[in-house]
Amino acid sequence: PAEAVPQAPEDPLFGLMRAYRADESPDKVDLGIGAYRDNTAKPWVLPVVKKADEILRNDPELNHEYLPIAGLASFTTKACELILGGASPAISEKRVTSVQTISGTGAVHLGALFLARFYKIHGANRTVYLSNPTWANHNQIFTNVGIPIATYPYFDKQTKGLDFEGMKKTLADAPERSIILLHACAHNPTGVDPTPEQWREIAGLMRAKKHFPFFDCAYQGFASGDLERDAAAIHYFVEQGFELVIAQSFAKNFGLYGERAGCFHFVASPSSDASEITTRVASQLAILQRSEISNPPIYGARIASTVLNDKALFAEWQENLRTMSGRIIDMRKALRARLEELGTPGTWNHITDQIGMFSFTGLSEAQVMKLREEFHVYMTKNGRISMAGLNTRNVDYFAKAVDKVVRE
Ligand code: PMP
Repeated sequence: PAEAVPQAPEDPLFGLMRAYRADESPDKVDLGIGAYRDNTAKPWVLPVVKKADEILRNDPELNHEYLPIAGLASFTTKACELILGGASPAISEKRVTSVQTISGTGAVHLGALFLARFYKIHGANRTVYLSNPTWANHNQIFTNVGIPIATYPYFDKQTKGLDFEGMKKTLADAPERSIILLHACAHNPTGVDPTPEQWREIAGLMRAKKHFPFFDCAYQGFASGDLERDAAAIHYFVEQGFELVIAQSFAKNFGLYGERAGCFHFVASPSSDASEITTRVASQLAILQRSEISNPPIYGARIASTVLNDKALFAEWQENLRTMSGRIIDMRKALRARLEELGTPGTWNHITDQIGMFSFTGLSEAQVMKLREEFHVYMTKNGRISMAGLNTRNVDYFAKAVDKVVRE
């Protein structure tokens, strides 16, 4: 039967990584993958993660037993407080349930699976609206569970900022009770986020249309260096009483990429039976989780839990977050300054206006390919660069290369 299986294309991002590794030029620059690099272009193990690791390894009681289906409670409890704010009424009113997942991807998947099973209208799945563009995996994850996909405009090519009018119009025209996927902060791939005022308008519009918010939060604390600020949109929607779900990743903000630490949260609207609804939802999530992964991986959750449950380590983590976000913000400033000094045609304010791991440069696919072939600079075809790939040694080289291809 396998004779009928067609060859699938290689994942574009992982293909890009392979091409970078094969390039022997000493000048090569990797601006593809969304992982933090220090100023020497090396992966960075957060000092606080090293400490937590040390504590765990010195614990003679530590074993390798299974976690419960919903994961490590000391981790999910703190993950929930982190994303909603410890004083959130959703927590005190027991209308939130949390399940540990295979990082953010697993959380988006579990949420999609849950919605495919339980959020039908007249037996049909609701449509999920994804931003155009979005993290490419969103398309595959929702398609895999049979949820139809539509898109809302997001990026304005002219301003290289938010296409707010386009976004609002599509959300207003969408059928009532659609699922709207929102990036909580540091939108991937554009780096463009709504302002607090725009978030309020989006919430108002979504309330009027009874839309369902699905927040994907992969960069809390990594974007601005401030955990509260990066969760502000979620806090606002919860305050407004939405029933919503959140996919939370600890890959970037703890540098725990390969450990797959993440969490899925369901928040019920305030009502007299909210906590019973939440209990029922938790029971169904447990069934879905059991058949998918049985129980989640333990190590990354232990690391994060150790930090989240200790005041001193938590403070040190915040310091580490400021180191990462600060270096990225410095690189944004440096790149913009170099391009403006060179008088590179075009405007470059978007480099510093955008936030988080990525910048949507506005470079065309032809320019991206030229950068790869002539300058050994690797970035995705849509003109997205991972800011973490820039450092004080290569930012000049990159700016000059951009200047050349823009002028050609
Ligand atoms: N959502 C978005 C928007 C992302 O950028 C990422 C990371 N690339 C994820 C989810 C999930 O990543 P992970 O599964 O590694 O946590």
